[in-house]
Amino acid sequence: MPKILDGAAIAAQIKQEVAQEVKLLAAQGVRPGLAAVLVGNVAASEIYVRSKVQTCAELGIFSDLITPPDTVTTEEMLDLVAALNARDDIDGILIQLPLPPQVDTKALLDAVSPAKDVDGFHPVNAGRLQAGRPALAPCTPAGVIEILKRSGIAIAGQHAVVVGRSDIVGKPAAMLLLHQNATVTICHSKTRDLPAITRQADILVAAIGRPGFITPDMIKPGATLIDVGINRITAREDFDRYFAGNARREAAFAKRGSTLVGDVHPQAFELAGAYTPVPGGVGPLTIAMLMANTVHAAKMRRGL
Ligand code: NDP
Repeated sequence: MPKILDGAAIAAQIKQEVAQEVKLLAAQGVRPGLAAVLVGNVAASEIYVRSKVQTCAELGIFSDLITPPDTVTTEEMLDLVAALNARDDIDGILIQLPLPPQVDTKALLDAVSPAKDVDGFHPVNAGRLQAGRPALAPCTPAGVIEILKRSGIAIAGQHAVVVGRSDIVGKPAAMLLLHQNATVTICHSKTRDLPAITRQADILVAAIGRPGFITPDMIKPGATLIDVGINRITAREDFDRYFAGNARREAAFAKRGSTLVGDVHPQAFELAGAYTPVPGGVGPLTIAMLMANTVHAAKMRRGL
């Protein structure tokens, strides 16, 4: 039986450690603070941001939720970021993506002070990560490493194959795995004979954004499968393709009219040595690592 890597439990453990650090900082008169900028009324973004703000409250981190209207201009957003960069009570700045089309997302992310860039998206932090210097690493890939380490899965010397090369997930995940001494292959949409490469993976990280893309024929039996993908399916035929005969999922699907599937086909998990489920695998780590980054940023900024 493959081992299920319980991301929710690992995230809870990390949050507990963060809360402990927050307490120690409080004794030194420091309260880490996160500014969460949520533009407009994108339902999914609202859910994500509210859960980040709520987690701050649970851990004793100060948070300031700022909600500009979806008519906001790039200039207004740049002014807001400049003000947040200057605020001493703010250690981390989170700009929830996507932004409305009139806002220059790249210009905005580049305007965040690298010291407060808790999402790890700024080119300075990407460069520091590449150079192996202490940096604020992007939360989801940092969470992938935590799952592997805390589950006792060896990384050094293993062949890690990362499918996906986004700046947010694929590339930083590959870099973090390399720093842990894995032998890393990065694949993308132009990769030739992808299954031949993924079948070599001891650790396979799927960050593609396509439901059930990694099928059983693409897996080396016994591999560790890290499924970063989060895809919501609502059509009955899609449900049957991934979950036919799964009574627990069937009940959830009937109740909500949708369910989540990762980038790995559920049948592929059966061949794995260990895998992260969707939901409850990588997802919960993203917020936990955001909290850890906020405390880290608070300490770095004060030279602690
Ligand atoms: P992007 O769309 O930015 O990147 C997708 C990557 O997959 C690209 O590099 C693309 O290659 C590659 N790709 C697409 N099609 C293929 C193919 N046929 N064969 C091989 N590679 C392919 O997505 P993200 O990195 O932002 O996100 C990936 C997934 O992770 C999504 O499902 C997203 O929802 C999820 N996610 C989950 C998070 C979490 O908290 N768990 C956080 C962030 C994302 P190319 O570069 O050539 O186009």
